[in-house]
Amino acid sequence: MRAARIVFVLAVGAVLALAQQKNNQPKPRNLKPGFNLFSKDQDVQMGREYAAQVEQQFVVVKNEEVNAFVRNMGERLAKSSLADKYPYTFKVVQEKSINAFALPGGPTFTHTGLISAADNDSQVAAVLAHEIAHVALRHGTNQASKANLIQLPAVLGGALIGNGGLTGTLAQLGIGLGSNSVLLKMGRNAERDSDLLGTRMMAEAGYNPVEMARFFEKLQAENGRSGRLTEFFASHPNPENRVKSIQAEILMLPARTYDAESGQIGRIKEIIKGMPDVPKPKPQPGQPGAQGGGGGQSGPQPAGNPGDYRSARPSQSLRQFRSQAAAFNYPENWQIAGDQNAQEVVIASPAGVFQGGGIGYGAIAGLSQSRGRPNLQNDTQALIQTFQQRDQNLRVGNSRGFRLQSGAAAIATRMTSPSPFQGQTEADVLVTVEHPSGVFYLLLIAPEGDLGAAQPVFDAMIDSIQVPR
Ligand SMILES: [Zn+2]
Repeated sequence: MRAARIVFVLAVGAVLALAQQKNNQPKPRNLKPGFNLFSKDQDVQMGREYAAQVEQQFVVVKNEEVNAFVRNMGERLAKSSLADKYPYTFKVVQEKSINAFALPGGPTFTHTGLISAADNDSQVAAVLAHEIAHVALRHGTNQASKANLIQLPAVLGGALIGNGGLTGTLAQLGIGLGSNSVLLKMGRNAERDSDLLGTRMMAEAGYNPVEMARFFEKLQAENGRSGRLTEFFASHPNPENRVKSIQAEILMLPARTYDAESGQIGRIKEIIKGMPDVPKPKPQPGQPGAQGGGGGQSGPQPAGNPGDYRSARPSQSLRQFRSQAAAFNYPENWQIAGDQNAQEVVIASPAGVFQGGGIGYGAIAGLSQSRGRPNLQNDTQALIQTFQQRDQNLRVGNSRGFRLQSGAAAIATRMTSPSPFQGQTEADVLVTVEHPSGVFYLLLIAPEGDLGAAQPVFDAMIDSIQVPR
């Protein structure tokens, strides 16, 4: 009797102790997408639009063996319910730097350099899983939402989305793919969550998740040796204790065998080694669809010469743009971000636009409403002041009055500013035209060294302006 009681007490004690131990065990983090103003469909739409830009800026690998190697791994991972059923695509771009990135809604791009740096399939799968996690957790549009709380709801409501598509409209808010892009450069918390969700996806798909920790360790060691930041870490900043938290996550996963290694990576690396060098220069000082950033090292940053503005030059053949404020001609090879209802449109080649640093080669057009009675002189002065507030380094030069071909009174003002193109001063010509409700303006921007090439096109653009009288 007594013995039985002791056994009972011990048993209860053991159960309690076990329960306690269970409570002390770390629980898996609940990983869910955060606050977001975009719909999931909008994630998908913008991802498609940006992907088209990325594919023009990068050399997409055509070798089917290499493509299939990455695509099969990606699809295997994306089957997981954790990937949340986005229309994922997995492309490889010929870039020696070690990086990979995913666009909202599913397009992912892997640099050949990343594959070359991996020791096995699972290490490539680790990065793909990490990227899929960014998409599933909607980190890009979460960040864009937080950064543009005020302006985004109207834009996403659809009223302002025009010919430039969703990405064209977002470019006006400074949202694009450039360096430090809110869509691509993640915070440390987002990085940690993507590691953890990626770890779970890897295990589910049969890849040993330890390889994620090993690969990041390897890349970190590489950083230390070369003193140069591996490109991957520029857009995926290292969370604290990255490797340890991945290892802790692995301990919480059910034990299983990992059998997804294809053993093909050696051959794939050989094929990549044999690829001819990407022809240079592939012109890209600017970033796909980005407005406003300036030449940093993150995001899809194709190798290009930031001093090369030739690819941003306007073509001589023009087409017409009509907005509610005015009509004017613009170079055929430039694109319009915005539509006829927008307050202001940006017109440029993607190569002329810099994330954060603004427009290096292009034009901005809009209507500035007069505060009182429209007066060309006063309204022009007020407009110049707002431009100076936007750009502290803007220097204002001479101005002169003239008449457009249509007879409307106009003022041309020369301004200069440091150019986002390396080693260049920027020449700005601001043309303001009288308008029933204020002034219509066209700001023409070129590197000073290329003004000779741009001037005839700029003159033709100015001559073509038609405003309501
Ligand atoms: Zn990341």
